[in-house]
Amino acid sequence: MRLLNTIKFGFLYFKKGSEVLRTYSLDFVEKFFSEGQRAFKNIYISNSFLNNNMKLTILGSGGIIPIPKPLCQCKICKEAREKRVPYSRTGPSAFLHDINLLIDTPPQIADSINNANLKEIDNLIYTHLDGDHFDGHSTLISLYFDGTKYCYKPKKTINLFVPQRINEKLKTITSQYGNLFDFYTKDKVVKKKTIKNKIKIKDITIIPIFVKENPATPYIYLFVDDKGKKILYAPCDTKPFPFESKYVYDVDLFATQPGFFETGLKDGFVYPQDDYTRVELYSFNQTLEIAKRIRAKKILFIHLEEYWNRSYDDYQKLEKKYPNVIFAYDGFSLEI
Ligand SMILES: [Zn+2]
Ligand SMILES: [Zn+2]
Repeated sequence: MRLLNTIKFGFLYFKKGSEVLRTYSLDFVEKFFSEGQRAFKNIYISNSFLNNNMKLTILGSGGIIPIPKPLCQCKICKEAREKRVPYSRTGPSAFLHDINLLIDTPPQIADSINNANLKEIDNLIYTHLDGDHFDGHSTLISLYFDGTKYCYKPKKTINLFVPQRINEKLKTITSQYGNLFDFYTKDKVVKKKTIKNKIKIKDITIIPIFVKENPATPYIYLFVDDKGKKILYAPCDTKPFPFESKYVYDVDLFATQPGFFETGLKDGFVYPQDDYTRVELYSFNQTLEIAKRIRAKKILFIHLEEYWNRSYDDYQKLEKKYPNVIFAYDGFSLEI
């Protein structure tokens, strides 16, 4: 329900799922919003109708290790400690505003949510359960918990959507109270729903794409709005890239990690030909090739590692070399 000034059609309709409930004139719309009646349950104004774009914010643009890396005195970390954002980077997570969707909970997720000044989270998905994407899960408890007002019950329960293989993995993760997500479900922190092939929330379709033969059991996600605009979100563990899926092609935005850099690493380090990094990750040039092969219109690089030894300024310079490439920073937003 944003950007009312973008209404171009003179009318607005309310939908519940795909069913059109009512149509109103613009006069009514102005009155409706001036009265602040925005919080009708199950009723929303179609973004497509308002001609809105999908809005994605990168909450955390860092990788496995945050920048500054604790204890580290390298020039990248020192600069980040002094200047903070956009030089500092928290762990990999993002937020799709259209449906208040949080993607992943890295260890620094509380800081990332605060930095972006988010007001609501309704939905949650995980790309995979490696620590850099998952270990901040206990922050979920604090989001809607208020011990004084809600008798130790959260004000709101977040919908957690999980594809099959992540669901299987979640069942194996325990806390001192037994299964971790059974505990979160019982305390109404999350409500877990499995995704079979795709799921539609308001006017956004979410399609999980499994990355086969990767030990991290990762998924990448395609988000498609009602206008057919596509964001492919593939932050980590993208190898072997799932070219076999029809959903990875012709996307408007490909948000992914840049892969490893061959040059410019700390102390002149060069990855040997038999280094495990070459097995696990694509290189920067290989990643650009993938973007070309899937015909991505724009590339947004995320999951930027401390050990790539590059500062915000270095990435800015690199952006100038590649016209359709953006390097994200914490809190970076764009609309597609
Ligand atoms: Zn460092
Ligand atoms: Zn990762």
